Amino acid sequence: MKKLQGIAVSPGVAIGEAMVFGHEGFRIPKRFVLRDVIDPEIERLNKAIAEATAELAGNRDSVAKELGQKYGDIFEAHLQILNDTKLCGEFVELIREKAYSAEYAISVTLRRYADVFRRLKNAYLAERINDIFDIEKRLLRLLLGQAREGLQSLSSEVLVLAANLTPSETAHLNRKYVRGFVTETGGPGSHTAIVAQALEIPAIVGIGAFLTEVSGGDIVIIDGDAGTVIIRPDDETLENYRAKLARVTELAVQLGELRDLEAATTDGVKIELMGNIEFPSEAEHCLERGAAGIGLYRTEFIYLGSTARIIPSEEDHFNAYRSVAETMGARVVTIRTFDLGADKIPHLPNPTDERNPALGLRSIRLSLKNVTIFRQQLRAILRASHYGNIRIMFPLITTLLELRQAKMLLADVCDELHDEKIPYDRDMKIGMMVEVPAAVIMLDHFAKEVDFLSIGTNDLIQYALAVDRSNLDVANLYHSEDPAVLKLIRQTIHVANNNHISVSLCGQMSSEPIYAMLLMGLGLRQFSVSPHILLEIKQVIRSVSMKECEKIAAKVTTLDNYRDVRNYLQIKLLERVRNAD
Ligand code: PEP
Ligand code: MG
Repeated sequence: MKKLQGIAVSPGVAIGEAMVFGHEGFRIPKRFVLRDVIDPEIERLNKAIAEATAELAGNRDSVAKELGQKYGDIFEAHLQILNDTKLCGEFVELIREKAYSAEYAISVTLRRYADVFRRLKNAYLAERINDIFDIEKRLLRLLLGQAREGLQSLSSEVLVLAANLTPSETAHLNRKYVRGFVTETGGPGSHTAIVAQALEIPAIVGIGAFLTEVSGGDIVIIDGDAGTVIIRPDDETLENYRAKLARVTELAVQLGELRDLEAATTDGVKIELMGNIEFPSEAEHCLERGAAGIGLYRTEFIYLGSTARIIPSEEDHFNAYRSVAETMGARVVTIRTFDLGADKIPHLPNPTDERNPALGLRSIRLSLKNVTIFRQQLRAILRASHYGNIRIMFPLITTLLELRQAKMLLADVCDELHDEKIPYDRDMKIGMMVEVPAAVIMLDHFAKEVDFLSIGTNDLIQYALAVDRSNLDVANLYHSEDPAVLKLIRQTIHVANNNHISVSLCGQMSSEPIYAMLLMGLGLRQFSVSPHILLEIKQVIRSVSMKECEKIAAKVTTLDNYRDVRNYLQIKLLERVRNAD
């Protein structure tokens, strides 16, 4: 059994067979062969070894000729490992004795050797580990040929263990079969993490290099609450986790009872609890949990969701928005114009020199530079507004000129629809995300030009603390509870209240129960959270008085570092849980 720690980004527990995707995107399958095809399987193996030998000999000779003998020797070393009779004998034995497929026999054997080499802590042998993986890769390529299995062609339930998954790959995971995933890279605020939550499957990122320690078909536990991955668990651990799964299911039933109860504190202060969505189908998830509306619809996922690299048409946008509006009926649907760029794969013309994507051409900046596509989206939002209670929100607004330009385009598109006699909601509310410190500083001005605000803490933290939200190396510096971030939030709520406009918080921070009391105490009355956590947040809201929340906020305001704030909030949340028991 092996236990590894990473960053928990989507909660829940999953137990199942591993499906491993290395850097090169191979799936290493666990497959048994029928007893009567064992000889042909050994023949397949021998053929692959012969082909690999020929390839390596060719490489050795050509490289030695071009670069010198020293470099040719690298391939000679591979040749010697590959033709080691003991090693090849082990492959054959696993096929013959255990009926393993040739791929699996190779993978299991070579990874065992790599593991032994690693444990010997000998620098020379450590270097050989990469040679072993090179040989594995070569043999698997020859064996799998065109018949590689990808994420698209699953037919049974698996847990995906991958070097990396892009937001787009994650968006395409088949929920029927992928019960959870773990990646070696990635940070807590990345869009891969956000998509995992939308799919409502347990996920962990940023484990570090671990794929060499696991084979396809190994039993794995993903604990998306604690951020732990357990490979080949022992019986006791497996039993404990099965019991945990049963408890989680029971808890979900209990929380379900809160669905139709009011989100209000014990002293009667009402909180508007809305959901964040990325895909139209999630509107149903929000309704199932009794959401008051949708506080953030991340429309850029319409681009990430399409397999073909085709820019969605106005009709594609319109159909998606209309369906969400109709599902939600009278409840508000906040459609955010697309926020492409940064780590969300752009389908739009690529910027020429994007060394620093988080500070580059993303979000509203990209929209204002690609007016044709932006107008198309604005038309679709306005047309859909006729079918429900839609409001529009602009992301990453930094300057007043940007906001005004976006509003002017919107007004122009309104005129266009009017001329074409296409119905739309003339009173549609216009809002902006508050996710850049400059916007907080200038908020008095912004508040006079919008109907509502929504605080995007994922980016606000990144820009306030100068910490890339998806970079694992600085993930330890990314803190929602940093006093500087809390001051920005407090200031935003204060300005919104002074200007009598509504303000919600739709960043990840509002989906974490530990911050709920603090945020209410800071004056927040609207939360927009991941649908899966909605009832848990409601439970916290219903368990506390506003007086208590204000006391918590007052105390936190006196603390000058994130660690003290976190410790204090942890104690307060624990007290609540104990009182509830
Ligand atoms: C945010 O920045 O907090 C936010 C909600 O937007 P996104 O995560 O899509 O950037
Ligand atoms: Mg953002």
